[in-house]
Amino acid sequence: MDVRSLKEKLLADYEGALDLDGVNGGRLAERLAVLSEIGRTEDGGVNRPGFSMEEKRAKQQVMEWMTEAGFEVRQDGAGNVIGRLAGKTEGAAFAAGSHVDSVPNGGNFDGPLGVLTALEVAEAWKETGFVPPVPYEVLVFSEEEGSRFGAGILGSQAMTGDLDREVVESLTDKEGRSFAEVIEAVGSSAESFFKAARDLDEIGFYAEVHIEQGKLLEEADRPAGIVKGIAGPAWLDVVFRGSAGHAGNTPMAGRRDPLVAAGRFVSEVSSLPAAFSETAVATVGRLNVSPNGTNVIPEQVELTVDIRDLDKASRDGLVDKVRETAQRCAAERGVNVDLRLASSIDPVPVSEVVRAELREVFGELDLEVMELMSGAGHDAMILGRHVPMAMIFVQSKGGVSHNPAEWSDLTDCLHGVHLLKKFAERQMEKMAGE
Ligand SMILES: [Zn+2]
Repeated sequence: MDVRSLKEKLLADYEGALDLDGVNGGRLAERLAVLSEIGRTEDGGVNRPGFSMEEKRAKQQVMEWMTEAGFEVRQDGAGNVIGRLAGKTEGAAFAAGSHVDSVPNGGNFDGPLGVLTALEVAEAWKETGFVPPVPYEVLVFSEEEGSRFGAGILGSQAMTGDLDREVVESLTDKEGRSFAEVIEAVGSSAESFFKAARDLDEIGFYAEVHIEQGKLLEEADRPAGIVKGIAGPAWLDVVFRGSAGHAGNTPMAGRRDPLVAAGRFVSEVSSLPAAFSETAVATVGRLNVSPNGTNVIPEQVELTVDIRDLDKASRDGLVDKVRETAQRCAAERGVNVDLRLASSIDPVPVSEVVRAELREVFGELDLEVMELMSGAGHDAMILGRHVPMAMIFVQSKGGVSHNPAEWSDLTDCLHGVHLLKKFAERQMEKMAGE
């Protein structure tokens, strides 16, 4: 697949119906295609890990476009790109953006779509001569996906000052390189990384357009949707310990088999979220059995439960219920259990005021409203802890993401541009009046 073919594919079923108010579908398609060439894989996906030369080149490309569009462009110590377009008044900016790093062999929309829709809004203003009432920023955050160190959303956390320096400095990548070595290889330093924290009074609002990475919008036949909030994941490590033994010589009575307890537990976990809320989910996706032999009663089973919900109280209630369930399943089988909350990120709801404004914007653009939760974390989750935040999802075909087959129709992407544009214009008007 060459540049032209991604662009052609995007333009194949687009007849220009949304080339309105300065927005240009051809330009958005072209830019998605240009970024798709940076770190391109044989399958037509991209490899742009955080803090790689590919991520750096993608950022440089975006900075060129920003400069051409009249932005003042800089990079902070964490490599985050900050493009600022002057407004009629000084003061806090309306910011929009996302990331350009990817998972290994990832898709062409996760991240780039948020950056390029934010940029397309400014291009449209330039064409129509609109000057934003307050400054407008496009942000490109470093290392969102976590594919380098297994720890993501590092750039946005550096910007908001939320990073735990000790934890970050202890990170090593798959090749055993330290955080400092990796970041120096792309021309930065650990020292400057931790100085990237901004005065967050400079940002009055943050908005992000992102592909849904799920199937709900497609099933409802909606081009885009309003994110109600970003679910905060809690990871509970569970270790069941029993007694190993020979599968042939140990009678069934009196066995202390941790896998039997774990099996019961995994099956019960799946029925717990429904009692808490419609949005709660709990998943066991990792399980290690040891010694893991065909003819050996296991001695130990380790697993992790990923628990998420939009509401923190509901999420934490579910974590407690999962703990109780693990203890009971262990007790019933006479095995021991250890429980440890390995990580817990607070969910970030989108305020009702912001959601109501987004609903109005959908109405003005004749789009039916659908509101949905984001189960995955995003840079908006980090910014949303500090400043008012909005997130718009664009339909993903088949819910496929983190894969070269990731796809969103150009028409749906352009609905994302118009929604962001109209919402930003309204929000900036309000900000200028404050
Ligand atoms: Zn993303």
